[in-house]
Amino acid sequence: MILDQTQIAAIIKDNPGNKRIVDGRNYSKKMRRHIYGEGMDTYFESITGFERDSLKELRVKYSKSNKDLFSRLGRPLDKVFTARGGSVYYNLSEETEKRARLISQDIKDGYSVRKWVESFWKPHMLDDPFGIIFLEIASRQEAIRLKKQGKSFVYPTYKQITCIYDYLPKGNRLEWIVFEVGADEKKAAGIDEKTTIYRIVDDAFDYWVEVKDDVVTVLPNHTYPNYFGEVPGMVNSDFLNPQYEYCFLSFYDEIIELAEQFLLKGSIKVTHDFMHGFPKYSEFAGNCNVCKGIGRLDGEICKSCNGSGKSAMVRVSDIKLLEWPSKEDAVILPNQVGGYVEPSVTFHEIATSDLQALEDSMAVTLWGTQSRLRTQGMSMGSDGAAKTATEVMDEIKPQADRLVPVSEMAELRHKFILDFVIKLQIAQSYGGSSVNYGRRYMLEGPDAIWLKYSDARTKGAPQNILDTLLNEYNEANYQSDPVGLAIAKKMMYVEPFVHYSASVLKGLSPDEKDYKAKLYFSEWLATQNESSLLSQTVDQLKQLLYAFVEAKKIPEAEPLAA
Ligand SMILES: [Zn+2]
Repeated sequence: MILDQTQIAAIIKDNPGNKRIVDGRNYSKKMRRHIYGEGMDTYFESITGFERDSLKELRVKYSKSNKDLFSRLGRPLDKVFTARGGSVYYNLSEETEKRARLISQDIKDGYSVRKWVESFWKPHMLDDPFGIIFLEIASRQEAIRLKKQGKSFVYPTYKQITCIYDYLPKGNRLEWIVFEVGADEKKAAGIDEKTTIYRIVDDAFDYWVEVKDDVVTVLPNHTYPNYFGEVPGMVNSDFLNPQYEYCFLSFYDEIIELAEQFLLKGSIKVTHDFMHGFPKYSEFAGNCNVCKGIGRLDGEICKSCNGSGKSAMVRVSDIKLLEWPSKEDAVILPNQVGGYVEPSVTFHEIATSDLQALEDSMAVTLWGTQSRLRTQGMSMGSDGAAKTATEVMDEIKPQADRLVPVSEMAELRHKFILDFVIKLQIAQSYGGSSVNYGRRYMLEGPDAIWLKYSDARTKGAPQNILDTLLNEYNEANYQSDPVGLAIAKKMMYVEPFVHYSASVLKGLSPDEKDYKAKLYFSEWLATQNESSLLSQTVDQLKQLLYAFVEAKKIPEAEPLAA
């Protein structure tokens, strides 16, 4: 959309999207409180009628935020950026693709486009869904310097909803946007800090306007053509609240009410722990030696016992002398004159299990699976027994399903940045890239995949399924060891009949050479070093293996024990 002067003045004066911006700011404030623990001190209100002011103070001061909770709950989101099977197609000629790759490797301050999306978009999709990604062009001198270094002079920024005055969404893109110009920017431009300045971007221009006595004036010295040809901004979230038009939601939206409960219950537990969490000592006391139990001496409060009239054993050398019990008295033994009153475990247990139940509900709502805290690793049940492959599968599927829309959003933002960067610097009539982050999320550990693989093997699953599973196992097992992974993948084709054990293979009456190669494979592998395994082809390695086993004999079958 291209705005004329009258429309610009109307937008500044009427602020038509004000409600959306205010909602967005409040929403972000709430999310930041949960995710980072910001503004906790002003958040807790006293529970009217139940709580003294002093108790509220205690609760506010010592309650912990939900920061750790959200860190635990959000961990699977990282899998979007480590998923296997992704690719970026630039759809460019070989020469220009090289430049595009180079630029996308370092889009801003050493971040690649992908890393930028992970580091800047992901957290703000969660804490500021109304905020936007906005592309900026470096200043003239800066652009010349960057161009010389082969770097991009177009770079992505995150604009917090708090610095946005208004915008008009069109899907996740924008018809126009108005930023509040900050004091620093005004100062740098030589404008008085008290002047009200806005920056408006539409499809054709990037304006600064001044507002004075209700009159809106465009500042020509701070107005540039918009080289992108459209507003280079994209809203942080594609999740929409169906109740309102263009009300953007965080991925965490559905669990916020539960998180609020969690915060409240946690804070009440803190109060309780302070008030009742300590064992208390009490003892039967004799009369004060000074005032003889009266509590007063010469009309004044007795200084020795502070008026209680009792003598307390405070030094380790203090001794309590008991009278011999008379016949009528109930006998109190010396070891019964004092003791600890233990705090109640009941409340502690209820409070802890309440919090755990809330966390479980949140995990199920968010991921469709229970909190990991209780399942203790992917392949163990709560009773510690190994889960079957199907059980593990049941837990993985819903999590992966929940990650798909996040991958889609991340890809869209990656493509958005990449396409504009290429269009402005490499190919003006660029048709656009295709970005895929992959959908194999590596949610399972190697143990769980091995179980699945073994299960499939014994059930005689087809070869290609076994190949896939073994590949998945290797990928999980060597997740942070690319060299190990490359070798393991190669060895799948060097080892004869990789999915069969030697004993099963024997039953299939194989060729003697193959059988020997299978039997002595591990022995041969141990004689090879990493670099030879990496550098040689599968066929070369096979030749080495068969040469190695040539002189080996098949061991005689041992006679069966009687
Ligand atoms: Zn006394």
